Amino acid sequence: MGEFDLIRRFFQRPVRHAVLGVGDDCALLAPAPGMQLAISSDMLVEGRHFFADVDARLLGHKALAVNLSDLAACGARPLGFTLALSLPRADAAWTEAFAGGLLALADAHGCELIGGDTTQGPLNICITVFGEVPPGQALLRSGARAGDDIWVSGSLGDARLALQALLGQTPLAPPALAAARQRLEAPTPRVALGQALRGIASSALDLSDGLLGDLGHILAQSQVGACVDTRLTTPLLEAGRNVRLPVDLVHQCTLAGGDDYELCFTAPAGRREAVAAAGQASAVRVTRIGRIEAEPGLRLIGPDGQPLSPRWASFDHFAAT
Ligand code: ADP
Ligand code: MG
Repeated sequence: MGEFDLIRRFFQRPVRHAVLGVGDDCALLAPAPGMQLAISSDMLVEGRHFFADVDARLLGHKALAVNLSDLAACGARPLGFTLALSLPRADAAWTEAFAGGLLALADAHGCELIGGDTTQGPLNICITVFGEVPPGQALLRSGARAGDDIWVSGSLGDARLALQALLGQTPLAPPALAAARQRLEAPTPRVALGQALRGIASSALDLSDGLLGDLGHILAQSQVGACVDTRLTTPLLEAGRNVRLPVDLVHQCTLAGGDDYELCFTAPAGRREAVAAAGQASAVRVTRIGRIEAEPGLRLIGPDGQPLSPRWASFDHFAAT
């Protein structure tokens, strides 16, 4: 099977909302009049972001999920995406499974594949998503104010727990591993929640590298500090709830886990009911975990209610190890 057969067979579908899709030199996209385009790219590299033997269908899902998560963090509605794919060989079964997972998630969000590039090489997936948002309403990292609450969606740390278990660093019983693995391999982008938070959240981002590090981006761009209560973050490790884990490991997973793809956002304390309603409308749990403070820096409250020194580093591709 050649490059163009592969594209035609697995990635070319009738256009729906786009003006022009796969098959020409450019795709043509027409956002609703007056809307702003929200654009984001994320790359997944074998051995770096996923194991070589990962299920192709799950990989297709995750490759798009992490991109949709960026649109969610901005409160944007997904429109379409491009797919730049480097494949070691033209493997029909693998590509069919990959495209199946990818396009199922795409269809669930009305986000169509409008183009891309296909080449032979080490397995590498780069997706660029396009979304739309009303002018001035995108959720940014820079809007947090002292006194705002800090919230997170869903659960925290399960993906990291699964990774530790798969690497043989943490023993985990099969049911707990299965639940955690689901969060690592098939994250759910919080697209509806992101849009529901427009006009409510003062700042937002999605958690890809770990809560403390990612929250640090909001603090830096908003020029504020924060206090996070670990008594509120610890219970958010869902798969680990029914197993006894060292408290240090729980902190490592929930505070600096990475691969969560949940939203972390701030909102004025007067908007708690509106935040809860946004969570309910999008069927996602939202949990208040701390407060924005004027004093720069990030402070943690430990299990005993006493200050806890933050020694959990977030993931950094170029950090010295
Ligand atoms: P060009 O050489 O003009 O860049 P290509 O020959 O690379 O175009 O691709 C042919 C068409 O197939 C283009 O419309 C391109 O967007 C699309 N395409 C290529 N690879 C993919 C892919 N992995 N997924 C979706 N569309 C793709
Ligand atoms: Mg090309």
